[in-house]
Amino acid sequence: MSPTAKFEDWLKLDGAGLCCAPGGFHIDPTRRVERAIITHGHSDHARPGHGAVLATPETIAIMRARLGPDAAGSFQELRYGETIGMGGVTVRLVPAGHILGSAQVAIEHRGCRAVISGDYKRGPDPTAAAFELVRCDLFVTEATFGLPVFRHEPDAREIGRLLASLAAFPERTHLVGAYGLGKTQRLIALLRDAGYDRPIWLHGAHAAMCNLYGELGVDLGQLALVNDAPSKLPGEIVLCPPSALQDRWTRRLTDPVTAFASGWMRVRARARQRGVELPLVISDHCDWPELVQTIDETEAEEVWVTHGREDALVHQIGVMGRRGRALALVGYEDEEGE
Ligand SMILES: [Zn+2]
Ligand SMILES: [Zn+2]
Repeated sequence: MSPTAKFEDWLKLDGAGLCCAPGGFHIDPTRRVERAIITHGHSDHARPGHGAVLATPETIAIMRARLGPDAAGSFQELRYGETIGMGGVTVRLVPAGHILGSAQVAIEHRGCRAVISGDYKRGPDPTAAAFELVRCDLFVTEATFGLPVFRHEPDAREIGRLLASLAAFPERTHLVGAYGLGKTQRLIALLRDAGYDRPIWLHGAHAAMCNLYGELGVDLGQLALVNDAPSKLPGEIVLCPPSALQDRWTRRLTDPVTAFASGWMRVRARARQRGVELPLVISDHCDWPELVQTIDETEAEEVWVTHGREDALVHQIGVMGRRGRALALVGYEDEEGE
């Protein structure tokens, strides 16, 4: 018997991803399935076309907004902390701290508990319920930043760098590239926490999701659209999709300072590649110390690593005296959630 057989009886990989056979569902499947539990709204996890979807109310609202009201045959809400029986297992959704509505899936079957964490982070985020640790026998984790070189800076320091640049170059627009679901709203909320109370200007592509966050109770302060701007916005903060950073669109701004908020900005070459003047290391994933800490705290005897830099993390898991396994799942690049 292989050491993983105990869990593989009821949680295994098939062509659509992680499948819980006794529960009759997949988690974040990459192909259309009958029944899916979706951890959060990023497009590598929340795909259209499933028969039935179970998720938090916020994730369902995000899926409907991005993918259309008929993105799934049916939607069923499960709030954080509520438990539901599905086939032979019980399921609970627990905050993952990644973006609004993001959840870990805790599954119990015959006295054994598995937690599939989806994407998660441990640091504070004013726009998402804080990560909750669940002790378990099997912990399934991602490893987007699963190398010891990845250490994220404290958010407040990165926001401070942006505000310091604004003070140093008061005549230039500060144009910040940020993905539209999660990172943009978190940046706005962090700026508000730092006392920045001027209107924040948005590229049109960011408007709908910011409005939805507002409807779901996340206060982002005063927002305005660049299209409605009366000037070339000197000295203002503008948020746009990363793809628009070098676009002709930027000509309507005043000598922009180009910033980009992403965990990858820790890698200088990536910032240079994108022509980013002010890289901001703000990530919605765990860095290496947080991954190791979380694995330790779950007390899981077995840890599966879904995607990312699995090799280093699986090695580390072994060093920690647990069984590690790289699942090498494809289709979860999560560029938009980095
Ligand atoms: Zn992801
Ligand atoms: Zn994500």
